[in-house]
Amino acid sequence: MRILVIGGGASGMMAALTAARGNSVTILERQARVGRKLSATGNGRCNLTNLQAGLSGYHGEHPAFAACALDQFSVRDTLEFFRGLGLLTTAEPSGRIYPFSDQAGSVVDVLRLALEQRGIALETGCEVTDLTFRDGAFFAETDQRRFAADRVIVACGGMAGGKLGGTGAGYQLLQSFGHRCTRLCPALVQLKTEPTWVRSLKGVRAEAVIRLTQAGALLAESRGEVQFTEYGVSGPAVFEISRAASVASGKRTVVLDLLPPMDRGALTEFLATRARQFPGLPLDNFLTGMLQNRLGRTVLRACGYSLEAHASSLRHQDCEAIAARIKAFPLPVLGTMGMDQAQVTAGGIRTEEFNPATLESRLQPGLYACGEVLDIDGDCGGLNLQWAWSSGHLAGQLKGNTL
Ligand SMILES: Cc1cc2nc3c(=O)[nH]c(=O)nc-3n(C[C@H](O)[C@H](O)[C@H](O)COP(=O)(O)OP(=O)(O)OC[C@H]3O[C@@H](n4cnc5c(N)ncnc54)[C@H](O)[C@@H]3O)c2cc1C
Repeated sequence: MRILVIGGGASGMMAALTAARGNSVTILERQARVGRKLSATGNGRCNLTNLQAGLSGYHGEHPAFAACALDQFSVRDTLEFFRGLGLLTTAEPSGRIYPFSDQAGSVVDVLRLALEQRGIALETGCEVTDLTFRDGAFFAETDQRRFAADRVIVACGGMAGGKLGGTGAGYQLLQSFGHRCTRLCPALVQLKTEPTWVRSLKGVRAEAVIRLTQAGALLAESRGEVQFTEYGVSGPAVFEISRAASVASGKRTVVLDLLPPMDRGALTEFLATRARQFPGLPLDNFLTGMLQNRLGRTVLRACGYSLEAHASSLRHQDCEAIAARIKAFPLPVLGTMGMDQAQVTAGGIRTEEFNPATLESRLQPGLYACGEVLDIDGDCGGLNLQWAWSSGHLAGQLKGNTL
């Protein structure tokens, strides 16, 4: 059979390698090389999967849709598969898996070699602009020529990471067969907040608990590194709550606990003791040793204190107010950064229009989709690539009523 895989990213390469058995497979890739986004993942290290990955880390209108694909090609299968291609990996204590070389390029290289070895044809710099089905065959129009096929796997990815190839093309190709797309939002992305306090903190990092709230209700929470930027907050802990911030509309606030190990009461007493012990200490240095210096000064300014005043001016209720601000520093959310900065797209082609056991379209037999183009996205930490591997593997089996 002639198989076309549209998109030579993570899921497309996996689908092509799986489909190659006994079939003639061609990958059509609009960029100059395959795996361009893959080579930029994980800050150039490629967090290719996660030992802790489970269905609860996936989102979409119907996250359970992902279960079949994730079960039939699990994290263990993924590790075995890559080992079989010669890729050695290493696990971090968090469960995140990286190539032993610490280079995303190694992952792309072993996949590229495997494509070559299995005789998969690569057409790079070849953008599919139209896909049709006529008289029992698919036809892909490209900026080079027309390709015909018996089966097509759409693996065009999502909108995220535009500079690395993120595009809406996959949605459009599938929509031309009647498929519908859910609302698309950037996820795993930096948050824009009201800038008054963060601007002066640009470059500062803190280990914090970050809570996303709306009208007093908790929408999401995570703990880890928060980085302050000119426009808001970034860093792993922020990425983890960013999906919830992105899909929610209305007034949202992030509230930072800047000293998670100490409760508010103990912190108040600690500050009161410090004020008694060092009455001549300028407030400029009052939080030195507890928080990063610039962060400490920002907390005091946000509480309305002059940094020239002395610790002796602080009464017990002042220490209570400072402790309260350290434990709950509010930053009104203005939005998220855009798709270009996002690592993944929340939303995509509606999954109820595909068979979860095969990833074949329910609207067009012989048409398959995998990866980010579908309405499935994962948490930070290797889950999105695991979805790309698992769904690519399932789609590449080309199982369906039509066979
Ligand atoms: C900066 C960044 C870092 C990331 N880091 C991680 C990480 O460490 N771990 C993790 O799990 N996830 C990470 N992700 C997310 C992960 O890379 C994606 O979820 C994953 O690559 C999706 O795989 P895919 O095959 O669906 O799409 P992609 O890998 O995006 O591949 C789609 C391919 O299709 C091609 N294409 C699109 N339209 C057409 C067309 N019309 N014709 C021909 N070709 C077309 C594109 O050029 C692209 O090469 C990161 C994302 C970004 C942007």
